[in-house]
Amino acid sequence: MRKYLIAGNWKMNGTRQSITRLVGSLRSNVPENVAVVVFPPHVYLDQVCGDLRGSLIKLGGQNVDWREQGAVTGEVSASMLQEIGCTYCLVGHSERRQLFAETDEQVAVKFGICIASGLLPVLCVGESLEQRQAGQTMEVVARQIRAVLDSVGVNGIARGIVAYEPVWAIGTGESATPEQAEEVHCAIRELLSQEDTAVAQNMQILYGGSVKQDNAAGLFEKENIDGALVGGASLVSSDFIGICQAAANRMEE
Ligand code: PEP
Repeated sequence: MRKYLIAGNWKMNGTRQSITRLVGSLRSNVPENVAVVVFPPHVYLDQVCGDLRGSLIKLGGQNVDWREQGAVTGEVSASMLQEIGCTYCLVGHSERRQLFAETDEQVAVKFGICIASGLLPVLCVGESLEQRQAGQTMEVVARQIRAVLDSVGVNGIARGIVAYEPVWAIGTGESATPEQAEEVHCAIRELLSQEDTAVAQNMQILYGGSVKQDNAAGLFEKENIDGALVGGASLVSSDFIGICQAAANRMEE
């Protein structure tokens, strides 16, 4: 049986103080039977790593460069993330694709660098509103996943996690319905099963896009939704803990 993972992407938010408070609250209140990872801004990784010491909550980077080292101003490498205590890394978040023009191919290389360095990449995929309205959702998602498959193969993608994040649902308050999300999650599993049925069955596929305490339980009822990648609600400890609790309740059923 696949386990739930709840991931909190803090994006470019927080201060030293607010992050100390948030981590303190998460440490004491996140249910222990759910895997949880947080993605703070890079400058706070070291602080959060210290604050999380002795807790089961894991740490991840929001972005990684595909080069190992050198004259790449402003970037961080996979080995730096690892050294500072990260076990996960987001790749291909729609904000990186949109604001920094990251291509499918670049995302695939980043995915490969993560697995080569022992980081667990969380590959974000998803369609824009225009693409959904044009009936292109699966075409877009398949293209994004295929780029990674072509680059690292099915055994490579098996070493990461997929997060389906429809762009129109991110930060808008308008989540995909559980049915809409499940439809795409099923199609992703179907795509992977054309390569390897065991990999498809075992792949954790998270949903992301305006997940909140009050819609999490409905999403987690769906067979192919294995957790959530949470943006805005991950900055408010009670909201994030509520989402983790919804996953914990589901595990106990
Ligand atoms: C995200 O940025 O990955 C995200 C899902 O954001 P939000 O939960 O705020 O929609």
